[in-house]
Formats: sequence, structure tokens, C-alpha cells
Amino acid sequence: MNTATPILQAERVSKRFGRPASLLERARRVHPPVIRALDAVSLAFRPGEAFSIVGESGSGKSTLARCLTALHTCDGGRVLYRGRDLALMQPAERRRFHRRVQMVFQNPLAALNPRMTVAEMLGEALRVHRICPADQVEAQMQALLERVRLPGSVLHRRPHEFSGGQLQRIAMARALSVRPEIIVADEVVSALDVSVQAQIVNLLITLQDELGLAIVFIAHDLRLVRHISHRVAVMYRGRLVELGDSEALFASPMHPYTRLLIGSAPTLRPAHVSAETQQVTEVAASGSVAAATGCVFRTRCPEVMPRCATEVPGLRVAAAGRAVACHLVPEPRSL
Ligand code: SF4
Repeated sequence: MNTATPILQAERVSKRFGRPASLLERARRVHPPVIRALDAVSLAFRPGEAFSIVGESGSGKSTLARCLTALHTCDGGRVLYRGRDLALMQPAERRRFHRRVQMVFQNPLAALNPRMTVAEMLGEALRVHRICPADQVEAQMQALLERVRLPGSVLHRRPHEFSGGQLQRIAMARALSVRPEIIVADEVVSALDVSVQAQIVNLLITLQDELGLAIVFIAHDLRLVRHISHRVAVMYRGRLVELGDSEALFASPMHPYTRLLIGSAPTLRPAHVSAETQQVTEVAASGSVAAATGCVFRTRCPEVMPRCATEVPGLRVAAAGRAVACHLVPEPRSL
């Protein structure tokens, strides 16, 4: 087991989304609904680790990714980079954080500047962060393209000239250009054709191996994460429900939700989820998620008990390297 000091940590991170009250709501003294997107989620990511966070749409996994990369500020808890609270960082520390912790998005076309050529994008990152002397920028750009298996001829083309898979490779080259320690990959293959998905995932794993990078995969496809992750965290409606080594978690899932996922559906892609799952997702999206007490999974759980309605199950150590948030787990020690 990897016991190195974490690069990045979420400590009881919470995030809510709301909207201002309308005139009618103010007149009626009604509070607009608040979505509890994340509820006290704690995770740690170690050097060289491939870590996957899985969950349905509305589970909070992408919100967590954005909190980890400082694209969102958390409402509760804190995010630590190398032990330092992001909220307390000085500007120089913050710049180092933004260089060493990179994010790759689901839609690279939206994340890349449409007016810049690949050479301009990569060159800008190399120069701004002073990664190499000016006379070595061209060679460095060629090396980056080689890493992501693209020909040097793409340097003078713009984003609209590429396919989805090529754009994702360019986004990776840009992320790699600043020599990160960790890449948070948010649903990076979910918009791609199945044949291209495997190529991109294999590339990420190769890069992780070659460069000793840590990678956090945010995904809804269980088949995808099983064989590429050292550890997996399962989220449900803003809470972490199970965490463990990938092989052990897939071989013997302990949380009823993880069992449901592994037993009934190979993928959490919205087009494939059950009608019940879709309904839950829609409820989450509508803002009516309000289960502040009890277990968030209780309305779907086949093993629900009376205490599940009133007591929030804490994350408990259930076995070596395994933590589960369920009252069925007898281990009394909370994390
Ligand atoms: Fe099911 Fe209760 Fe466990 Fe929640 S705490 S998963 S409702 S048994």
C-alpha cells in the first residue's frame, strides 16, 4: 500500500449551491432550495497513485474535483496541498499549487482557447511558468507532443481542426507542459467514441507510469476504473460511501450502493442508468436534495433499518484499506 505523504487532501469538504430568492419567495418568506453538493468528504491522494472517484450524475464527484483544483471554494472543511491549506496560501504558494495541480476537463474544446494555435498555447504555458529557456521552447513543445502521441505538424493548427480524441491529447500536453505532480481528469473520455476512450485512458496510465504522476479519475464508468485504479472512492448524493483498494472493492463491495452498482450496471453513464437511478439524479438536479439526517441511500437501500432514517452513518474502517459509511458495518471506529 502507498503510504507516502499525500500531495492533495480533502478534509471534510462541503459545498452547497443555491440561488437568490425570487421576489415571490421573499414576499412569502420562503427560502429557495439549496443543493448539498458535497457533505464532509475526506480523501487523500498520494504521489504516483491512480485514484478513481465514481458516482452517478449528481453524486458530487465533479464538484469535488473543482474544490480540489480551487475552481470552487469549499463552504466547509479545507483542501490541503502538501499539508498547506489552500485558503491560507500566499500568492507565490498559490502559483506553485496552480502549476503542480492540473485539471483536464470533459470538454477540451471549451477549455482551450479557440483563437490560439497549439504552439501558442504550449509556448505560453512554458514561458509564463519559466519551465525552460526561450531557446528550448520549440524542442520542449515537440517533446510534449511526442509524449501524448501527436505529430509535430499539429503545432500550427487551432482547436476546431481536431477530433475529440486529439483535443484531449492536446489538453493533456498543455497540462503536462507545466510539470504537474497530480492531474485531476474529470470525465475525460465520457464524450468520446468507445474506440477512442481506450486510447486516451491507456495514454493517461502510460503517462502516470512514465512520469510518476498521480492521477485522479472522475468517472461514471465502473468498467473503466476497475483496471486502471489503485484505489476507488464511491460517492452518492454528495457523500463518500465507500473507499478501498480497487481489486478488493470490486471483489467484495461492502456498501449496499456499491453492491448495487457492481451487481446491476456496468456503467453509470446517464443513458444506461435505471429509471430509478435517473429519478434520483433528476431529484438531485432539481434542488430538492435535503436529506440532512439519516443515510442518503435509505430510500433505495434493500437493507434499510429504522436507525438509517435518523443517524448519518460515519465512514468506518471495515478492513485494511477499506472504509464504508453504513450502519451494517460493525466496526465502531470512525475516521
Ligand atoms: Fe442501507 Fe442503512 Fe447502510 Fe444506508 S446505513 S446503506 S440505509 S443499511
